[in-house]
Amino acid sequence: MNPKNNYSPCLSAIVILLLIYCLQAQAQTLPYGSSSDTATFMLNDKAVHIISYQYGLPHIRFIALHDTEKTGLRAAFKFMAIHGGYAVELQYGNSRDIIFTDSLKNFSFDPNKIFTPEGAYLGLAISSIPQIPTGMEEKIQKLGNEVLRFSKIDSLGFIIALHNNYDGGFSIYSYTNGNYLENTAEEVYINPDMDPDNFVYVTDRRFFNYLKQRKLSVILQSLQVHDDGSLSVYAMQNNIPYANVEIQHGRLDENYRFLLAINDMVKEIFPPNFLLAK
Ligand SMILES: [Zn+2]
Repeated sequence: MNPKNNYSPCLSAIVILLLIYCLQAQAQTLPYGSSSDTATFMLNDKAVHIISYQYGLPHIRFIALHDTEKTGLRAAFKFMAIHGGYAVELQYGNSRDIIFTDSLKNFSFDPNKIFTPEGAYLGLAISSIPQIPTGMEEKIQKLGNEVLRFSKIDSLGFIIALHNNYDGGFSIYSYTNGNYLENTAEEVYINPDMDPDNFVYVTDRRFFNYLKQRKLSVILQSLQVHDDGSLSVYAMQNNIPYANVEIQHGRLDENYRFLLAINDMVKEIFPPNFLLAK
């Protein structure tokens, strides 16, 4: 047998896989004509890049805060390439938390817990034993303010956040009776036919009702939610309707399907004229 014959199907398979990969990669970047802008925030030695992308009309704005959760952002690019829109991501290295040093000590915090003074303090406290150096929580909250200011993420009158999670563990069931996030939720709707890792977390009853009617699993945040400095708590405190699209890592098609529903939702709830006027 000619050994070359053994390689050709293998090579063909590799070429086909490479082609599929390239096509997928193409679908997840923005087309020619899109624009991007970056602001860099220095936290001692750590550079946090806040990057915005726009294509077409920014009639919807997405924000991805965790640097290790990119499926949501890829789904947003896929959406924007067809419908236009605006997205923001944070880049700070290959970790979920932002890690930096101060006086030769390592500190870390969750970039989704920096939007209120209380949350910025508590988020830092986890990695600050025995105590937080003076002024550090103010610095962290300044980053939160900068993210909000630079991204203009609430300029349409609502906020759409993008997060990704892993299979198993945290899911929509974490918010149900007897589970650790039970007190965070006012109401939970679960579509039993859906993967429980895929759902939307909202602060607005209109969003909840709309998504429930579309049979998408959804959680309505409780008004008594603990102030952990997250964007959803900031949104609630400032009366800005908020939706977080929470999808399992790698489930791009499902993530995209959710974004289409979210787009339909804001179109129905916020009149298009209002959107264009902003
Ligand atoms: Zn996240």
